[in-house]
Amino acid sequence: MDSRQSRPLAFSIDFEPFCEAMQESIDIPENFPRFDVESELSHNAEACLELLFRHGVSATFFMLGWIAEKFPRIVRLISEAGHEVASHSFYHRRLTGLSQQEAEEGMRRSKETIEDLLGEPVYGFRAPDFSLPCEGWMCDYLAELGYLYDSSSVATAIRDDYGKGWTRAEVHRLPNGLLEFPIPTKTLPGGVSLPVGGGGYFRLFPFVLTRRWLAACPDRATYLHPYEIGGDYPQDIDMSFLRRLRHTRGNGRLDTKLAGLFDSFDAMPVLEYLRRFHGLDRNA
Ligand SMILES: [Zn+2]
Repeated sequence: MDSRQSRPLAFSIDFEPFCEAMQESIDIPENFPRFDVESELSHNAEACLELLFRHGVSATFFMLGWIAEKFPRIVRLISEAGHEVASHSFYHRRLTGLSQQEAEEGMRRSKETIEDLLGEPVYGFRAPDFSLPCEGWMCDYLAELGYLYDSSSVATAIRDDYGKGWTRAEVHRLPNGLLEFPIPTKTLPGGVSLPVGGGGYFRLFPFVLTRRWLAACPDRATYLHPYEIGGDYPQDIDMSFLRRLRHTRGNGRLDTKLAGLFDSFDAMPVLEYLRRFHGLDRNA
């Protein structure tokens, strides 16, 4: 048997432009274009689609709603290539920094915009910067809107911007019925939990460690960003040395690591993973 068959992995891309993704982490001048980024998004989308096609992999694209509104061609291209399109809220703003009305609008309007564009239900949600708290009204609101799963939780205390209160590393059902797919973590001696397998953690950790840690996880998920795969992002933003290392090292040069990932694991969209291994309603 192909060893990958016993090692499923949910593969996703948080589809956002570099500048907008960074705007709450680094100082970006107000006049720097955040939303006039069609060439960046188009180039990186094509790179993502080409990579996935080459490896015969389908993925989930967590899409910002405004991109579906302003650049529908890109979102249709992704959907027509057979990938799942889910919601990454409407704008890339941490939910915890928004009023309840703004956060609700992000969750609702992104779902509606993508559904209107593609004519298909959107089942999944991931909060910008994983900023969904475990406790409170937000998870219940996602369920009310008709989302079937969320993948915003990271059981780690090493980041202030991540949503608080999550402790479980495996897929589990919340009391409101929503399935939660956590980002994998590795607990080191001493008790510190490190996120594994996504974004900067994927770019910066040696692949041999990522593979070993992912293989040991009860449920496996990896996420990347379009600029990490396509390598097109503004080079002239001021960043400290450490910020530049964290956000850009390896961008556009992940082919070998990704080939290793797809050789080692059976990558699939989040929705398919949940249907096959966690009993998500097959009709959904
Ligand atoms: Zn994001």
